[in-house]
Amino acid sequence: MSTRTVLVVNSGSSSIKYQLVDPDAGTAIASGLVERIGESSGNVKHTYGDQTVKRELPVPDHAVGMRIVLDLFEEVGPSIHTSNVVAVGHRVVQGGSVFDAPALIDDDVVEKIDALSPLAPLHNPAHITGIKVARQLLPDEPQVAVFDTAFFEKLPAEAATYAIDKKVAAAHQVRRYGAHGTSHQYVSQEVARYLDRPVGELNQIVLHLGNGASASAVKGGHAVDTSMGLTPLEGLVMGTRSGDIDPAVVFHLYRNAGMSIDDIDDLLNRRSGIKGLSGENDFRALHDMIAAGDADAALALDVYVHRLKKYVGAYYAILGRLDVLTFTAGVGENDDVVRARVCEGLEPLGIVLDPERNAGRGGPKVISADGSPVTVLVIPTNEELAIARQSLAVVEAR
Ligand code: AMP
Repeated sequence: MSTRTVLVVNSGSSSIKYQLVDPDAGTAIASGLVERIGESSGNVKHTYGDQTVKRELPVPDHAVGMRIVLDLFEEVGPSIHTSNVVAVGHRVVQGGSVFDAPALIDDDVVEKIDALSPLAPLHNPAHITGIKVARQLLPDEPQVAVFDTAFFEKLPAEAATYAIDKKVAAAHQVRRYGAHGTSHQYVSQEVARYLDRPVGELNQIVLHLGNGASASAVKGGHAVDTSMGLTPLEGLVMGTRSGDIDPAVVFHLYRNAGMSIDDIDDLLNRRSGIKGLSGENDFRALHDMIAAGDADAALALDVYVHRLKKYVGAYYAILGRLDVLTFTAGVGENDDVVRARVCEGLEPLGIVLDPERNAGRGGPKVISADGSPVTVLVIPTNEELAIARQSLAVVEAR
């Protein structure tokens, strides 16, 4: 049998990211990106093997964008028609309380994703557009929706519930949904594989530290808490998001700073976090600024690390016993300074880092010292592969 592939699609409001994945080998065969859809000029990039094609051309809508992608597969390779595509897997940000697992897409599933749009107004409508276009252009391939929230859908009620008037919460679907679930699930399973231990016997904390950042507590393969909430704004300090703040900050700014709700939304999502404190959201630039003596950058890193330590402590207490602490995503995989700072002083909790193992980028690797009661790991995340494998499993279970 020829290699099976899954086309993974992440359709945003003005972009389409895609990857053709070999789910069995765990490799990306081709990948690309269509950006600035709907603007006067768009950017397209497609990579296959050592060939990368870049174009600048108007992409008026997602249908045209997807058509361009499929044409690039034919022109640059590999042909979609001869790639044995067994599924198209769509990343969907918000699955609400409706989806606790990936779903084979039909009209009913599309309607349910659409109905969840008030909870993810920027994302779910864009996913629906991408799904509709892909169903039209690839009508013979089964399409699967993989939800960023699914891993957290079964959070214990005490972790999922906000302590607000329960009637208001129920009427408006206000609960903690989490996000980055595909990554947390994938990484927690990879941890078990890497350590050659059953996931069912491990108590884990996973720190997904990318431009967005989230922590999860995973007991026996099931999430028992996570730092993102109704939206990805809650929790850790991120590249441009504040993470946890007193909700009264919103009232204060609305009442006293002449800011509208949309202004405050923009402030907390796009002008806060590391960027808000230092002017930069990339950790490489942040370290350069700190090395040059920038006090704001130093404080930004201090605030970031302080919040992370709080979550490690909190999830340790929720789990009762901690076996593995794992760093993943752009910062988690590459920034040994952040990892060292987070673990510093946690030796009494059994978290003992080995500075030499911690040094440098990439993984998978153990970075704790021999004999450290808690094993500390760096495990690269791979959301596209996780989506491909989940999509394949849905198709095979039909
Ligand atoms: P992600 O969202 O997982 O792609 O992570 C992106 C972020 O990872 C960037 O904004 C950087 O802050 C961070 N990052 C990437 N490479 C490095 C590196 N070599 N050292 C430190 N941080 C890095």
